[in-house]
Amino acid sequence: MLNALRPQPQDKILQLIQMYKEDPRDAKIDLGVGVYKDANGLTPVMRAIKTAEKQLWESETTKSYTNLSGDPAYTAAMQDLILGDSVTSDRLSAIATPGGTGAIRQALELVKIANPDATIWLSNPTWPNHPSIIKFLGLPIAEYRYFDAESRGVDFDGMLADLARAKKGDMVLLHACCHNPTGANLTLPQWSVVADLLEKTGAIPFIDNAYQGFGDGLDEDAAGLRLLASRLPELLIAASCSKNFGIYRERTGILIAVAPNAEMHGVVQQNLAFLNRQNFSFPPDHGARLVSMILTDPALRADWQQELEAVRLNMLSLRESLASELQRLSGSDRFGFLAQHRGMFSRVGATPEQVEALRRDHGVYMVGDSRMNIAGLNAQSVPVLAKAIIDVGV
Ligand code: PMP
Repeated sequence: MLNALRPQPQDKILQLIQMYKEDPRDAKIDLGVGVYKDANGLTPVMRAIKTAEKQLWESETTKSYTNLSGDPAYTAAMQDLILGDSVTSDRLSAIATPGGTGAIRQALELVKIANPDATIWLSNPTWPNHPSIIKFLGLPIAEYRYFDAESRGVDFDGMLADLARAKKGDMVLLHACCHNPTGANLTLPQWSVVADLLEKTGAIPFIDNAYQGFGDGLDEDAAGLRLLASRLPELLIAASCSKNFGIYRERTGILIAVAPNAEMHGVVQQNLAFLNRQNFSFPPDHGARLVSMILTDPALRADWQQELEAVRLNMLSLRESLASELQRLSGSDRFGFLAQHRGMFSRVGATPEQVEALRRDHGVYMVGDSRMNIAGLNAQSVPVLAKAIIDVGV
């Protein structure tokens, strides 16, 4: 049986990490992998997580199974963090999942049970795991225009024209904020136009919320999805705690289904729990428990929000200094988009040859589509990167 297996393509980002490790140059810059890094290049454990872990170690009396859907305190606290009061809680069903990826996978499996003919509409470009999982599950897939290569902003007219072709019951995958890989995001008025269009077509939003708090703030980053939740009968939300709580390896995520009415809650919740049962049974609890401890304890929550805000402002200031250094070197405003983009990533718009030259001649490592992880920079490397970008002719 095993000899029937064929090699799988190597993960491009993991390949890039390996090349970076093997590069002997001191001045190399890693803008590849999607984790937050501080000025020293470290991905720290957040203070509130450390405190909660200590408290948990002292207070936890059992490691017995929790609940198939996850700890209700976790799902309730996350529903509140994500949706605020945009929708009444009797319309919500939720499961804890292994990371945001687990939530995306479960959401797609739910679609497969309920409406296997639904086409899943993805932004072009999007996080490569989206199409990869959808294809693996055999669901129909379509793309909508999203990134304007010229302005490096959102091609909103193209997006609307393409999404106008979505059928009733199709799923439209939208990034809640901090679009990966481009960094270009919808404005709130644009979210409202998207809501109008979805109302008209009957297509259902499926929101990937992996970076809440990394863009404009915790509430600001959820404003678009809250607007959709307040206006549309149904939506799915897959959220990750990997980035905003810095607990990547704990695998902490949630899938929330918003139903048209409270009567549907029971059957939706049963189906979500059923999917957990089929795929891994009980979801991981450690990270989820830390998150619910932090969100429900005012002092821990305040500390977490303060540290998250510092992370956000650090990325924003790196964006601003990179944009202004590029303005100085190029004598033009054509890199102004870097300060407009939000989140960890920006697609700078380099050709594959320029990305290669950045690596070969300057020790700058970014993904082949020219996605840069802004958090990989610090005060010293910003001018080095700016010079390299100009040198290779971007
Ligand atoms: N969605 C997007 C857009 C992401 O960038 C990521 C993380 N790279 C995820 C979902 C999932 O993250 P995780 O499974 O690590 O929680």
